[in-house]
Amino acid sequence: MKHLRTLLAITVAMTFLLGLTVALRPVAVPGEDVRCEQAVLTVSSGTVTSSSCDGELAQRVVGMVDESVRGVADILDISWAERVDVVVPSSDLELVALVGPAFADMAGVAIRDESGQRVVLNRARTAPLSDLELRVLLRHEITHVATRDLTSDSAPLWLVEGFADWVAFHGLGLSLRQAAPALTPDVAAVPTDFGGPGRELAYQQAYSIMVYLESTLGERGVVDFFRRHASMSAVDLGDVDVAGWRAFLESRIG
Ligand SMILES: [Zn+2]
Repeated sequence: MKHLRTLLAITVAMTFLLGLTVALRPVAVPGEDVRCEQAVLTVSSGTVTSSSCDGELAQRVVGMVDESVRGVADILDISWAERVDVVVPSSDLELVALVGPAFADMAGVAIRDESGQRVVLNRARTAPLSDLELRVLLRHEITHVATRDLTSDSAPLWLVEGFADWVAFHGLGLSLRQAAPALTPDVAAVPTDFGGPGRELAYQQAYSIMVYLESTLGERGVVDFFRRHASMSAVDLGDVDVAGWRAFLESRIG
């Protein structure tokens, strides 16, 4: 812990010396005497803004930013800024103010407001994640950032979320069962409810549609499929053969 705190101080100091963005202001932590300050860590592909009291998490995240942005950019082959700004709010109040109450329990949310696009991480949900889980989360949210300009606000969620997961898991060597443990072959339609108690399953089903499409269209075909349909408010379901998807799941995890 001491080592990480020292590392954080050094990184912030070096960032300051380089003349890059450093913002410091007191961050009140209720019930704690420890004085926390806001710190911005900068790497070549983005920034991580957090309370210095969350320095350990911020260090883990910033250490993954460059490789995550590169990983997403390599797969997407589209024109985008190829950078990401990550925010780790220091309190639930700040978290809700940024993402809204409906999304406050999610581990990460990609937002766009007057300050531009940012990825907001829920520190309580994110801190216990393994490096692999954190990497998947970052790549998922960075995919939303990268594809925002070509995605309609009313694009179907199974397409938007399934594609973000597909990019996130791409090349990590996980099986479908490992990446989608709740998934069963018992599917009758594309998932539509991403907010209720079936949220986890909906994400995993959406991901599995992309894996199925990859098995028929190839890797490039999935990216093309997403680009062709993301700007639309509906996807012609003739483009997704649900019976074929079910048969694929039966053969892979049945
Ligand atoms: Zn998402």
